[in-house]
Amino acid sequence: MEQTELSTDTANKVILCRAAIAWRANAPLSIELLEVDPPKACEVRIKILSSGICGTDLHILEGRNKVPLPAVLGHEGAGIIESVGEGVTSVKPGDKVLMLPLPECRECCFCLHPKGNVCVKEDVLSPTGLMLDGTSRFTCKAQKIHHLFGTSTFTEYTVVHEIAVAKIDDASPMNKVCIISCEVPTGFGAVFNTAKVTPGSTCVVFGLGGIGSAIVMACKASGACRIIGVDINEKKFPRARALGVTDFLNPRNLKKPVQQVVVEMTGFGADFAFEAIGLIDTMLINSGRTLKGSFLGEYKTRDCIPKLVTDYLQKKINIDPLITHTFHFERINNAFEVLQDENENCIRCVLLF
Ligand code: NAD
Ligand code: ZN
Repeated sequence: MEQTELSTDTANKVILCRAAIAWRANAPLSIELLEVDPPKACEVRIKILSSGICGTDLHILEGRNKVPLPAVLGHEGAGIIESVGEGVTSVKPGDKVLMLPLPECRECCFCLHPKGNVCVKEDVLSPTGLMLDGTSRFTCKAQKIHHLFGTSTFTEYTVVHEIAVAKIDDASPMNKVCIISCEVPTGFGAVFNTAKVTPGSTCVVFGLGGIGSAIVMACKASGACRIIGVDINEKKFPRARALGVTDFLNPRNLKKPVQQVVVEMTGFGADFAFEAIGLIDTMLINSGRTLKGSFLGEYKTRDCIPKLVTDYLQKKINIDPLITHTFHFERINNAFEVLQDENENCIRCVLLF
């Protein structure tokens, strides 16, 4: 009831709320008052309840991933529908939802193909930072602010396309399920859908942050008998061991390239290798091997992500170990510091609103 009342109060009006704005790269985010327009046709406005901080957000702040700025970053969010635009049929005010960095329009050649998930309406590969009609719903200090990947979750309210929203079970714990927008499907799908890790295999995982840790869990669930974890931050090793890593390598302590050490440890190299750092240098392969990219684990987002939430509620998968830190949204800059701090053992920071 409370949620429905909220929507009738604010529907069709501009909402003034707090948001973390990235004015430029290599600078802290700044908490500002943001005007969030009502949703246009086929769009919804969402009250955000939680948002994870992904390595991709960090790469954007470091200027390594280029997106149009100023922008509201964040693409891993859970919230409640506040109001819907004309023609929206799949969700209604009060519904619990996840925001999806890859939409699923269910009409384009990629959505209709049984494999793959890169819907033509995505805004990740060459980001415009705008809604599909070429405009933004965000204004701050009389300036238009860009969206990120059609999601933008570092704000109390956001507007996204209906095709970028997954309605989830009413029983979902909203302080946790946000990571099923990106971290969980990316890691699990890389293992289950893209690599198809086989029982008894040897896996190597480069990077033991959020994505790498989800990969480790899925490798273990697939029956891998040896999982070599590679990270420059040894504080991450105890948690990674608990998730299934059997051997650790810190490239900074090695006298040879890490790939060479992996080959020596395994005889012929690992059966499956996962790059979860974001370094081109790591993506080296020997002849006869296959290099594959995996985008959100190749899950068709609107079809599969609600099922991952249900699997979690039914205790078929456990995502709890993948969240190690929580912060109030306004402490977002502290959360980014923790993610980068080599004296911390952070897997994923979740912001609570
Ligand atoms: P993260 O910051 O949580 O983890 C990165 C880890 O790499 C950290 O543990 C860090 O200590 C480690 N690291 C950094 N430099 C290293 C080096 N030189 N050698 C070894 N380890 C090193 O980030 P995350 O959220 O896990 O994201 C990891 C990568 O996955 C990022 O590049 C991100 O952009 C990418 N990503 C891809 C998708 C996709 O759909 N393909 C989705 C989400 C994230
Ligand atoms: Zn992400």
